[in-house]
Amino acid sequence: MRKTKIICTIGPATSSYPMLEKMTAAGMDIVRLNMSHGDHESAANVIRSIKTLNRKVTYPVAILMDTQGPEIRTGDLTNELELKNGSIISISVRDSVDVEQSSFHIHYADLIDTVSVGDRITVDNGIINLEVLHKRENGMMDCRVIDGGILKSKRHVNLPGIRVNLPAITKKDRADILFALEQQVDFIALSFVREAADVVELRELMGEKSRKIKIIAKIEDQSGVENLEEILKEADGIMVARGDLGVEINVALLPNLQRRIVQLCAESGKRVIVATHLLESMIENPIPTRAEVTDVANAIYEEVDAIMLSGETTIGKFPVRCVEQLVEIAEATESVRGLEFSKKLDRTEDKQQLAITAVHLAESLQSKGIVVITRRGLMADYVTNCHPQHTRIFAFTNDSQTRRRLMLNRNLSPFRTAFSNDPEKTLQTAFDVLKLRTSLVAGDKVVVISDILAGSGIDAIQIREIP
Ligand code: PGA
Ligand code: MN
Repeated sequence: MRKTKIICTIGPATSSYPMLEKMTAAGMDIVRLNMSHGDHESAANVIRSIKTLNRKVTYPVAILMDTQGPEIRTGDLTNELELKNGSIISISVRDSVDVEQSSFHIHYADLIDTVSVGDRITVDNGIINLEVLHKRENGMMDCRVIDGGILKSKRHVNLPGIRVNLPAITKKDRADILFALEQQVDFIALSFVREAADVVELRELMGEKSRKIKIIAKIEDQSGVENLEEILKEADGIMVARGDLGVEINVALLPNLQRRIVQLCAESGKRVIVATHLLESMIENPIPTRAEVTDVANAIYEEVDAIMLSGETTIGKFPVRCVEQLVEIAEATESVRGLEFSKKLDRTEDKQQLAITAVHLAESLQSKGIVVITRRGLMADYVTNCHPQHTRIFAFTNDSQTRRRLMLNRNLSPFRTAFSNDPEKTLQTAFDVLKLRTSLVAGDKVVVISDILAGSGIDAIQIREIP
């Protein structure tokens, strides 16, 4: 059974019901709706399809909405613009200015005040690089083309090392977040989180709903890296957003940074997602490069909760094969024993300590599973934090939203069952489901951890044999 979860960004290549069905069958655990693209209508269609699909699959597909955030893009171009190395190009921040042969728009009103002469402007994820030469009075400035290329409409712009003067949650984000709450998504990923206050702002905006909908903070620039530890305290999980990170910081520092973020998440018991460029070449090709396979495997060795596809599944030619490829790599890689994560975990709550004990017990008994009976998923998270090496985690909840959001947890299979006042009945139902839906059979040993066993909200552990 695969431990690492797979997140797929949905786009034109995958948004139809038959494609979503195929992707799910291939191993997709979570869909990501990237609000930088697409509107509420197309997002609502995907959500509707997933909810229909979820009625007939073994494990539900969870839904993650990803905000656009304070992202800067170039304007619309009627014709593609060729930028030649060494040439001078002017940039306008005003829409009204006519775009000439050698100029284009960047949609960020404060751009000219924010940058200094000599600063670098990066376009299209690092492919095109410009150097600021001269600021003019009229909302224009001149730049030298350092790395040229063909500029298309609405390309991503980065200002490495420069703090962008845009709010963490823009007006558009706010509307998208309210939409997500209305649609009852399971996760909200906040783009370009620069400090803990950004996450707090989102939590406040979400109100009561933030108890159930989990917040993933995307680390994608230098401020996010600097404030990582503070951000981690406020968020439920982190996304290593390597696309933007790779241009916002020196790309050579990315591997160390990924390790550090994953390690920090393991220590503090938070979920972690490694995103972007995992199988980039498969946008065009039916097979990945060797380097991509090794990159995916490295994330799996690091024991991340989930790995995420973007362009591969939004516009790629082989979205289903990408998922199959990740599944194959995960299955082949996970058999190697990972780091001793539970030893690194430095949370001292009683419930966490109890989960560590349950996992030790399950591993030393070589039991087939750890059964967690949980309402809000809290104990399931504590068990996940322990990174059991040989034992699968089976979580039973009476709440379908809790069930879906547990799809992110590494090595965990969630189920929804009705809870009875009689704990023994609840447990029997869970055992029946295990026999029906998993490879576990009568006679298999499992460790049960829950606060329902003692019938009084007291956490307890039992060793049980499936009847
Ligand atoms: P994006 O975030 O796809 O929304 O840009 C992920 C990344 O930057 O890697
Ligand atoms: Mn990004």
